[in-house]
Amino acid sequence: MKHLIRIGGMDVDVVRKDIKNLHIGVYPPNGRVRVAAPLLVDDDAVRLAVISRLSWIKRQKAHFKEQTRQSKREYVRRESHYFLGQRYLLNVIEHSGRAKVEVSNPRRLDLFVPPGADAKQRERVLIEWYRRQLKLRIPPLIEKWEEIIGVQVADWGVKRMKTKWGSCNREARRIWLNLELAKKPIECIEYIIVHEMVHFLERKHDERFIAQMDAFMPQWRLYRDELNRGPLSHETWIY
Ligand SMILES: [Zn+2]
Repeated sequence: MKHLIRIGGMDVDVVRKDIKNLHIGVYPPNGRVRVAAPLLVDDDAVRLAVISRLSWIKRQKAHFKEQTRQSKREYVRRESHYFLGQRYLLNVIEHSGRAKVEVSNPRRLDLFVPPGADAKQRERVLIEWYRRQLKLRIPPLIEKWEEIIGVQVADWGVKRMKTKWGSCNREARRIWLNLELAKKPIECIEYIIVHEMVHFLERKHDERFIAQMDAFMPQWRLYRDELNRGPLSHETWIY
């Protein structure tokens, strides 16, 4: 059951489902707004919920616009790139050795590439570096939280995802982390790991899930908000 309503000149997809809470999501690339509403919540109530979150929705839409602008990176000198929540200025060094990335001073990323490497090749070197850096930091965090939460992660991986920071497969005890997390503060990476691991205990984002998050990581909302300031949001919900 899906239909479209217009609220203040904005199209909103409304889907009614057998759920307890109303969810509002803003999705890339165009900032599409989608509301998942419980079966008994009528369009007027949906309207009110959307209006009450209008400033957040507008912020999300603005971020997607910014993201589209930002995604046209050229990988040239003095371009800003983020790593573990810090902004760095790129320095491109052409050399004939192995392509690599080095953090040469607290504010500079040195990108070593073969002479004449184009933007695509430069991007590939940086992405692979992000992947290695992120992968180095995940195992100790998983180990730490396996002990605290009391669940085992059988397998984990890093991949590029368009709409999520993380996902999990409860049956396989596997978690996936978005490669983009390499650009975020380590606390945010840790939060997504904890969030996905708590899904092993609680499937949905319901009161029980939130209670577990509050118990394990009382300040998780801070990290969620930090991630939501960026272009990707984990699903948001009202409670
Ligand atoms: Zn989740």
